[in-house]
Amino acid sequence: MHDLVIRNATIVDGTGAPRYVSDLAVAGGRIAAIERNPGPARETVEADGLMLAPGIIDGHTHYDAQLTWDPYVDPSPAHGVTTAVIGNCGFTIAPCRPADRDLTMRNLTHVEGMSLEALRHGIAWDFESFPDYLDMLSRRGVGPNVAAFVGHSSVRTYVMGADASRRAATDTEIEQMQRLVLAAMGAGAVGFATSTSESHNGEAGIPMPSRLADTREMQALVRAMGESGRGTFMLTRGSATSIPWIEALAAACGRPTLVAAMFYNHLEPESVFTLNNEMRAARGRGHDVIPQVSCCPVTMEFTLQSPYVFESLPAWAPAMAAHGEALKRLYADPQFRAGVKEDIAGGRGLLFKGEWDKLHVVAAADPSHRSLEGRSVAELAADAGRHPLDWFLDFGLQENLGTLFTGVLLNSDERGVGRLIADPHNHVALSDAGAHLTFFCDVGFGLYLLGHWARDVGIITIEEAVRRLTGQPAAIFGIRDRGRLVPGAAADLLLFDPATVGRTKARRVNDLPAGATRLVTAARGVHGVWVNGERVADATGRIADGRMPGRVLREFAS
Ligand SMILES: [Zn+2]
Repeated sequence: MHDLVIRNATIVDGTGAPRYVSDLAVAGGRIAAIERNPGPARETVEADGLMLAPGIIDGHTHYDAQLTWDPYVDPSPAHGVTTAVIGNCGFTIAPCRPADRDLTMRNLTHVEGMSLEALRHGIAWDFESFPDYLDMLSRRGVGPNVAAFVGHSSVRTYVMGADASRRAATDTEIEQMQRLVLAAMGAGAVGFATSTSESHNGEAGIPMPSRLADTREMQALVRAMGESGRGTFMLTRGSATSIPWIEALAAACGRPTLVAAMFYNHLEPESVFTLNNEMRAARGRGHDVIPQVSCCPVTMEFTLQSPYVFESLPAWAPAMAAHGEALKRLYADPQFRAGVKEDIAGGRGLLFKGEWDKLHVVAAADPSHRSLEGRSVAELAADAGRHPLDWFLDFGLQENLGTLFTGVLLNSDERGVGRLIADPHNHVALSDAGAHLTFFCDVGFGLYLLGHWARDVGIITIEEAVRRLTGQPAAIFGIRDRGRLVPGAAADLLLFDPATVGRTKARRVNDLPAGATRLVTAARGVHGVWVNGERVADATGRIADGRMPGRVLREFAS
């Protein structure tokens, strides 16, 4: 007797092979058979031709903290995500000494787009080492499956304390870090993750610890990961991080190396393809360097209290350290403004490069300014005869920094993004789920790839879109028994309607610890999601029955 049979499903198996119609049987959390009339079952679901695919593996999330208060990591399961890879960019919460908890939260608050209050209320500090953290997740249970990177910034803080954000490491410190990485790999880390990106800053604009690492340290740590014979190395690169430098790291560890965040920038239309070509050449030399791309336009909602889009401008640094009245004084300061204007003119920011026409007023704080909603900063400044930065900051000050702005700064050009997605080697991910919570929500990136890019635009087939969300990431991360629909594989399943699959626009909710806000979206066209054979979502969203069928994945292919 099977536990479940899904009848008359259009099977899209995750390998890229053409679809076919069949029944799929599940027993003991695994796929028992894919054939017509596989025998009796306790439960039968009539798919009526809907597509049945492996569950989505979201390769770039930041659910490390959220998992400790929300084991379901909503809203990911409702969007078809059955496995979340956490610890990306090296922003983790383990290992962490009790004395460094506040420092770790202060580092995370900024990059996660979550208030320090929310983190202080939310995180259950039930662990110290990385193995402890994985054990805690296993003990408390997880909704979807979870694979965890050991994070460079946490490892560095564990060894160096507050100095981790200030200086290079000594030989002894590097050796200590190597031992931590090796121990984490032994306990079941999916790999080692780091960031050299200028946009990654902690509270008050302090650089994330990994940004202080020199080449010697990076080499030593990826070698430690490679010594385990397993693992994926992931790095979010900064503007000065060259592909040859990354290739040398890939060579040092001899493991798949994921490079984020490869966005299309219409102001430098060829730059991302030049990097792509360099990575292709590296693969030709036997070094598995893989671009990690996003299929979503990067839309960011922000206020002048914490405007992430400006924070990679060097002249913006003092604003990250200021709050309240001091921040307002700084915004009014002509010298601060002159510095920012110079940085913008010099193209020194990673995100904002002077496109005032791409910044819009979403919601004015003062009801008398409602007529300005929906208009761009460029337009409004031109109407007022002001420099856009002066208009922008003065308007923000008038509104007591309460104006909600939005910016679509990267990945907005469909042709450019399409070219990135069409390359079959590129890993489509970058939902950043669990981070930047007040700026955007791309948890539904997989449904967007299926609905927008495969169905509407037709840049890839549905079969290929499914492969890119399932079989391909499973291979990159060494997840052996998921990402494909074959007998014997884990029953992580997504049943969807290809005619309607997609995601809704984001809306704001106040459901974080301490009542903090975040953006969420809902899924469209999803009819069922199963994790290890247990249904976690249906057409109305996640099923809140308290079950946690996910596993903490600890065994990866060598
Ligand atoms: Zn990230």
